Amino acid sequence: MQKCSRCMLPANYRAITFDEEGVCNYCRTYEELRPRLEDFDHLERLFQERIEGARGKAEYDALVGISGGKDSSYLVYALTEVYGLKILTVTLDNGFLTDFARDSVKRVVESLGVDHFFYAPEWSIFRECFRSTTRTWGLPCLACGQIGYGLL
Ligand SMILES: [Zn+2]
Repeated sequence: MQKCSRCMLPANYRAITFDEEGVCNYCRTYEELRPRLEDFDHLERLFQERIEGARGKAEYDALVGISGGKDSSYLVYALTEVYGLKILTVTLDNGFLTDFARDSVKRVVESLGVDHFFYAPEWSIFRECFRSTTRTWGLPCLACGQIGYGLL
């Protein structure tokens, strides 16, 4: 099976195409957008504007999804400790949440002193989303992303 000569994405990846050099459309798009994506001073200013636009407008400045992994845990840390936001955190419980993940979430929110809740939609909602993402993209795992984004 053909793979991108740069990132190794395979030919069966969703909506992938390859150019004459064997480079995929995702790599080419990144190449085109790279100057904007790596202008960190500009991105920091945009982020600060968004934060100041949200700060103090409601009981919480932001609602943040947390899985207990390092990325979302760091985000919770940065938003509270670096940017000084008052945030509410939520974890989507898809029925597959492990005790380890649940404990990790609890440790992070307790140590940073942020409010948190677990959200567990009815199984019928997951079932419909699993069906939909499997039929559309062949990937049932996208269902949790859809529900998570919908929740947030
Ligand atoms: Zn690529």
